This record gives sequence, C-alpha cells and structure tokens, in this order.
Amino acid sequence: MNTAESKTLDFVRQIVVDDIESGKNGGQVHTRFPPEPNGYLHIGHAKSICLNFGIAKQYGGKCNLRFDDTNPEKEETEFVESILEDVRWLGFEWDNLYYASDYFDQLYEMAIKLIKAGNAFVCDQTTEEVREYRGGWNKEGRVSPFRDRSVEENLELFKRMKNGEFRDGEKTLRAKIDMNSSNMNLRDPAMYRIRHTEHHRTGDQWCIYPTYDWTHGQSDSIEGITHSICTLEFEIHRPLYDWYLEALEIHHPQQIEFARLNLMNTVMSKRKLLELVQGGYVSAWDDPRMPTICGFRRRGFTPESIRDFCDRIGVTKTNSMTDLAQLNLSIRDHLNKIAPRRMCVLDPLKVVIENYPEGESEVRSAINNPEDETAGTREMPFGRELYIERSDFMEDAPKKFFRLTVGREVRLKYAFFIKCHEAIKDVSGEVIELRCTYDRETAGGKAPDGRKVKGTIHWVSVEHAVNAEVRLYDVLFEAEDPSDVAEDTDWKETINPNSLIIMNNSKLEPSLAEAKVGDRFQFERNGYFCVDRDSTADKLVFNRTVTLKDAWAKEKARK
Ligand code: ATP
Ligand code: MG
Repeated sequence: MNTAESKTLDFVRQIVVDDIESGKNGGQVHTRFPPEPNGYLHIGHAKSICLNFGIAKQYGGKCNLRFDDTNPEKEETEFVESILEDVRWLGFEWDNLYYASDYFDQLYEMAIKLIKAGNAFVCDQTTEEVREYRGGWNKEGRVSPFRDRSVEENLELFKRMKNGEFRDGEKTLRAKIDMNSSNMNLRDPAMYRIRHTEHHRTGDQWCIYPTYDWTHGQSDSIEGITHSICTLEFEIHRPLYDWYLEALEIHHPQQIEFARLNLMNTVMSKRKLLELVQGGYVSAWDDPRMPTICGFRRRGFTPESIRDFCDRIGVTKTNSMTDLAQLNLSIRDHLNKIAPRRMCVLDPLKVVIENYPEGESEVRSAINNPEDETAGTREMPFGRELYIERSDFMEDAPKKFFRLTVGREVRLKYAFFIKCHEAIKDVSGEVIELRCTYDRETAGGKAPDGRKVKGTIHWVSVEHAVNAEVRLYDVLFEAEDPSDVAEDTDWKETINPNSLIIMNNSKLEPSLAEAKVGDRFQFERNGYFCVDRDSTADKLVFNRTVTLKDAWAKEKARK
C-alpha cells in the first residue's frame, strides 16, 4: 500500500478511490491535463499536472496530455513545445498526446447531430445583440429571433458557415437550452464562431472554431476520460458540460473542480505573464523571477521540489493564497540533501595575513556535504591573501556583531582563526583591505589554549579565485496580491524595483571553474545557487535559487 493512501486522501482522490471500489468505469481511472498552448506553463499548472498525472500513476490509470487548441489567434507551436518539455521535466510522461483540433471533424458531426435533434440553431445576432438578449443575474433573457429556424435551414446555414461563405462574427451556432436559466452559461451558449484565421495545426482548413465549452467535454468523452479535473471557475460551466454530453448520449466523464493555486507576490495568468515578457519587465518567459516552470528550472529549482510543494499544499475546494515561503521550504529541503557546498564571496573585501609567508600557499580540506557522507571532501587553496564577504567586516562593531572588526578574532571555515588589526581605506573612506594575523595552532578550528571565537566566516584565496557574476532575486511584486488593485491602477505598478540585484565581482573557490550550466550548489552562508545559461568561457553566471533562511518571511511575521 503506498504512503499517499495511508494518509487522509484529498477530496478528488477520495472520489477516484470510491469510483474504483464501486466498479464505476470498469474500475479504471483515466485523467487528462488540458493546457491551452497560448503561453508557458506556470507553477499553477504544476499543481494540476501533479494532480492529474499523480492520480493516474497512483491508481494504475492513464493520463493524457491534450492541447486545448481551439483559439487560433493566440496559439503557437513554440508554446506546444515548451509545454511538452515542462511536463517531462516535472517527471511525468503522458499515455497519449492529443490535440482538441484532432477532433474538429468529430465535433462538427456532433454539432450536426444536435441541430438534427432540434437542440442547436444558427444565429445571426451580433455580439452586442447576443449580450443584450442574454440578460443578467436578475434580468430575464430574451430568445433570439433566429431560434426557430427549421432543422433544414440550420443544417444548410451551418454548412455554409463551414464553407467560408460568411464573414467573422456574421453568424454563430448556438445550443438551444434555456434563456431563463439562472446559470448564464445555459442561456443558449455559442458552440461555433466564425474566424477566418490560420490555425497552428489545421492551417486554413477551418474557418469556424468550436468554443471551449463545446470542445472540452466532448474531447474528454472521445478519449474515455473518467475524471475531468479542473479549477473552481469551471464549476459554473459544469451544467453545460453535462448538458452537451447528455444531449449527445455519449460517454460522460465526471467533472470535478478544485481550488487553483495562487501564490503571494506573484501573478499567474498567462495573459499577465505575456505582458511582463512583452513589456520588457522581465528578460524572457524563463526569467528566474517568473513563476513559470521554465523560470523555476532556470532559477535552480528541482522537479522533486516542485512536486513536493504540490504535495504539501494539497488539494481543496476553497481558494486561498499560498505563501512563497512554502515553495522555498520544499526547494531548501531538497537542495540541502543534494547540493555540494562551495565557497563564494559575493562582495569581496581583501584580507592580507601578514604573518603568513609571502609566495606560499597550502590546501585545506573542506566537506562537500555534511548531509551526505558519500559526497566526500575537496581541497581549497589557502594563502596570504584572501577574500572575505564585505558584510563580514564592520568598523566600530556592536558587541553582538560576531564577525570581523578591528581587534576581534574570527574563524575562517576549514582554516584558521584570524585577527584584524587594521582596516585600510581609500580616499573616499571606504575600507579596501584588512590587515590581519593568523594563528596556525587553530588549524583544527579550535585554539589549544581554549580561547573562543563566536563567528565563522567563509573565504576564497585571492590567487586562486575564479570571477563570477551572481544574480540575487527577490519577489517580483511588492504587493501580496498584485492582481488585487483598484480599477484605475496598473497591476504592474507594484513591481519590486529590487527584484534583481547583480553582483558582478563575486569570487569563487577554484573548484567551481568546472561548473556546468544547471549545476546546483550551496554557497556557504549565502544560499543555494545554480549556473545560468548566460555563462561564458570567461565568466560564470550564477542564479540564487533561494536563501538559506527566509529573512523576508520573518520580517513579515514581525510586522
Ligand atoms: P491562466 O488563467 O493562467 O492562463 P488557464 O486556466 O487559462 O490559466 P489552461 O492552459 O487552460 O490555463 O490550463 C490547463 C489546466 O491547468 C486547466 O485544467 C486549469 O484548470 C489548470 N490550471 C491553470 N491555472 C491553474 C492554477 N493556478 N492552479 C491550478 N490549476 C491551474
Ligand atoms: Mg484557459
């Protein structure tokens, strides 16, 4: 019995398990993930992917990947390819790959079936007229004057729509349901619209395109889907989903709605993400600040961490906001286990150890990963000149400052105690070099005379250091919910001006010279980092995936 079954099941899995046990659908489960290829996948999609593919995996079922490609204007092959890559990267493999556009012929035949049964009609109303006739929550609808066309006339007009005899918007095919339903979706909804637009797969074969509602349930049905899992905003569409399948008398999957993922300080809709890319607010879809799967990948997230995050947040029926700290928790947990430790000084300050012989150096042994004994050790060169982090030195430091200041001693990790006796400044008064001495007797990290130091800092040998650019990221939006802005304000106004800070003079320990794009490390005391694809032969570029602790979340908690 797997572990997921031993803990309480979420409500979707509970439905699936009950159905399997009662022998519904022959005891089989078949799900699908149905993205529209109009953008890159984001972390919200990951939740849906983990749920759909996860259920299939867990209960010996199948999961299809289906491109919901019925909007020719917005869809592109570039997006299709990125989606395939992202689903695979997350660790899932589809049982079948389909496109809703594969069903255009079948959907057309189904529409004819509805027309013949008197359940659909060709309507000449304009978009404005349709809207006006539809009415509202407290306003009755009025039937279209074209609603009573004969079956023959409807069949003829629908054929002519298909043959391209009308202009865009001139006619629609609508279901004949109930213009007084309290559910607006049932007030004679559109099934087909005329769009003389090329489709990324069917080219100019079609000039009528099915609507989402007319496509989705039937696609599920054709594929033999048993549980059609979608987000809550489709709950109100479910009566229509059911109506179409009943009217057509075909296999009827069960639609189940769950709460979508909303992340704090993030926008998630593809339309908004596209706006960020096109407006140059970020560098690309895979900018490491983007909540896209490719953005997280480039930032250094592992697929395991994203799956773990989806697992932890669970599946519910109530919309809420998830704190980014949750995601950070998952990635830290994983990287803590797998990421080799290295030293990198982000903002270097030179230290000269005056009692260390000039022209000499030695190697110190450093532990690669204290969480993983098999990771072993490595050698780090040590010499008279070192870099330490500028923030590890402070003039006139308060008592609680446990790092370096004039007159105070500190431990260099894996090396010796050093004591600072002078800070050299440039003309502007900025400290540019520290004059120190070291105590060779403290090689093991302890002083033989028992004296203590409170701080341990990281360092890199000047002579052996490798240059790097390190990119530090913060949340892209200052507002907790950037979408929740007054009507006359632009949601982009809350973009965090400090979401990217570039450290362009960072110093790496020499073993990092061999690092390859995508390699992940813990830079001691600074967080987890990975090599960015912008790296060149001359200069490595690192992204900070996540800090070691959530200083930011703590700050928030204090408020
Ligand atoms: P967006 O509004 O971000 O553009 P969408 O819902 O239009 O997203 P689709 O490509 O249609 O995107 O979504 C594919 C599947 O992913 C759908 O089943 C959808 O419900 C689900 N999904 C989309 N966003 C989220 C989210 N934030 N949380 C959970 N599931 C999501
Ligand atoms: Mg959509």
